[in-house]
Amino acid sequence: MNSSVAFFKGKFVPYENANLHITTHALHYGTSVFEGIRGNWNEDKKTLFVFRMKEHYDRLLEGCSMLMLDIPYTSEELCKITLELIEKNNFKEDIYIRPLAYKSEELVANLKLQDLASDFALVAVPFGLYIDSNRAINCCTSSWRRIEDTMIPTRCKIGGHYVNSILAKTEATLSGFDEAIFLTQDGYVSEGAGENLFLIKNNTIIIPPVSANNLSGITRDSVIKLATEELNLTVIEQNIRRSEIYLADELFLTGTAAHVTAVGSLDNRKIGSGDVGPITKSIQELYFDCVTGNKSKYINWCTAANLKKV
Ligand code: PMP
Repeated sequence: MNSSVAFFKGKFVPYENANLHITTHALHYGTSVFEGIRGNWNEDKKTLFVFRMKEHYDRLLEGCSMLMLDIPYTSEELCKITLELIEKNNFKEDIYIRPLAYKSEELVANLKLQDLASDFALVAVPFGLYIDSNRAINCCTSSWRRIEDTMIPTRCKIGGHYVNSILAKTEATLSGFDEAIFLTQDGYVSEGAGENLFLIKNNTIIIPPVSANNLSGITRDSVIKLATEELNLTVIEQNIRRSEIYLADELFLTGTAAHVTAVGSLDNRKIGSGDVGPITKSIQELYFDCVTGNKSKYINWCTAANLKKV
């Protein structure tokens, strides 16, 4: 079911009226920046907790600056619009919030960013699991390499560069895998098609640096904090080779949609036990408590949406 209200061209409108013209620049050239934010329903507290909303909008605005998308809102104003949208739709279940800033100019054949109109739209929809994070998933190394920051900035969620992720995910799932792992042009591990990657070896967590062309993930940042502060683990950022994954004790992926998902195999080679490993399990539980507003120490990561009383 879709939400009944969207935010479009500066106002709240019925969801089915949030439509663009076929000549819109972003549709032809991928000149958009988007976010994925989760709202998690806590049945005991009868509250919808939006996770790290401000950080998502800060990243959106960084992307806007990169793509010369002038939208007339601050992060704080975008948070306010989002809470109003949730309230208008009165969600009482897990949701996925999709803000989109885009080049809205309606014309064809214009290969530049300057002097073109920009706009912002927002929808939210009920959303359950993106990947089955209750089990360890099976991944393959993609035959597609991760795009380089020298081609399109990879640290922002730019619409056009998701063709890269979509090619990889399509190849992986058509071949019977759950997800694809990208390598950089230099053969270092970059990330999943829509997730950051964490490797565990001898009780130490190793993650690829953002300079390996991955997105500076908000779940990645949250998990680094939880692993170091709550589990006393060391997290090292360093380049990782594909063969290191085969020999890892545990591997997991992180993302707003994917949460913390264990990886049981890469290219049909079992990783560790092939199941959800003990450290991954502890991090999954901690993360889930945080996103559902059940961990008071990290409650400032959550914004409680003010829903109508039933
Ligand atoms: N990498 C890519 C390519 C992604 O699309 C995402 C999802 N936004 C992530 C990593 C994880 O980022 P986050 O934790 O901020 O959702």
